[in-house]
Amino acid sequence: MFEKEEHKLLRQTIRAFAEKELAPIAAEIDEKDEFPEKLFKKLGPLGILGITASEKYSGAEAGFLAATIAMEELGRISASFALSYLAHTILCVNGISENGSASQKQKYLPKLISGSHIGGMAMTEPQAGSDAVGMKCKAVKKGDKYILNGEKTFITNGAVGDVFVVYARTSEDRTRGLSAFIVEKQFKGFSIGKKLKKMGMRGSPTTELIFKDCEVPEENLIKEEGGGLKQMMDTLDVERITISGISLGIAEASLEKSLEYSKERKQFDKTISEFQMVQKMIADMATQLEAARCFSYYAASLADEKEKDFSFEATACKVFAAEMATRAAMDAIQIFGGYGYTKEYPVERYARDAKLMEIGAGTSQIMRVKIFRELQKR
Ligand SMILES: Cc1cc2nc3c(=O)[nH]c(=O)nc-3n(C[C@H](O)[C@H](O)[C@H](O)COP(=O)(O)OP(=O)(O)OC[C@H]3O[C@@H](n4cnc5c(N)ncnc54)[C@H](O)[C@@H]3O)c2cc1C
Repeated sequence: MFEKEEHKLLRQTIRAFAEKELAPIAAEIDEKDEFPEKLFKKLGPLGILGITASEKYSGAEAGFLAATIAMEELGRISASFALSYLAHTILCVNGISENGSASQKQKYLPKLISGSHIGGMAMTEPQAGSDAVGMKCKAVKKGDKYILNGEKTFITNGAVGDVFVVYARTSEDRTRGLSAFIVEKQFKGFSIGKKLKKMGMRGSPTTELIFKDCEVPEENLIKEEGGGLKQMMDTLDVERITISGISLGIAEASLEKSLEYSKERKQFDKTISEFQMVQKMIADMATQLEAARCFSYYAASLADEKEKDFSFEATACKVFAAEMATRAAMDAIQIFGGYGYTKEYPVERYARDAKLMEIGAGTSQIMRVKIFRELQKR
């Protein structure tokens, strides 16, 4: 219903790439917890690193439904690879593309879109997670520079990124005091902190970033001082839609592997697919996946139309798809029995990766708080 011919073509292209290049190393990326930088950079020539960005700056201008499909196809093979792709393409590239000045776009987008530079976004702080607006990182104007001081944590691509969209406080006003900056890794006073060891999404580097009298040229302020909150909220809305694509990918993989295994595994002289309780798990998985897919594509289509406020749909599809993905992956483990609990099969990786979907881009609890708020607005 939402997918057009160009989306089908895009899906085929990314699926072929992911099957050929990503699938053979997906387990190793997880095992070694190593970011496959060379492979990531190949997404540049594939034409998807600026999937929502304007063609004027080498983007594909294909929209958020296309981006969601891209996340789904990469996430079906390696959710951690898809997460790094999301941080680069949506949080950094799309952020600059939507809010940056012509000269900022000219300077940063072509390099990020070709793959020569890797991007990320830094909002979360050790004491400001769900309450991101309570961030403490400060930016003080001094001559023709802003001086940033503070710490960010949980930053996807932190260890490998060249360019970050960084949110910092330019005044004490809680909501009107946030501003966004483009920060390059070689700026004086910028450093990478600890790399976090995670249960899942291994291979997508999550890192602390430290700003100690970090010098950011004034021309790297995005839009105006105090304009950060709106940019942050708009970015989170499209992040929540597109990250749902990763949930869809994990659930699709769980379903495919469960179907395959249930037809091979025999107990009581029958394949386990003949047992109705196994059939139920697979039937529920397929039904809930399809519902999440329709909802996420609908939200993405609204974002592409740009005519209506889509915050409710973005938030609701995110929590629905995230919880669906965790259930699908856990049921896949159940269908695989003891083998599902081992590293012989990928379903345990799917479950570890899926859990992040309920935390990143806003926890499921925060999503429900926001859904209620959006309902009251309407
Ligand atoms: C792998 C990974 C990648 C990430 N990538 C990025 C990134 O690239 N950039 C970035 O800026 N951030 C990133 N994050 C941070 C992520 O967005 C936060 O972890 C998330 O918003 C939750 O914040 P927190 O971890 O501080 O949890 P907390 O806010 O401390 O929440 C702890 C618990 O309290 C609950 N809670 C908090 N407030 C409420 C409330 N009002 N009502 C009900 N329950 C509540 C939460 O739901 C949760 O269950 C990433 C995180 C992870 C794990």
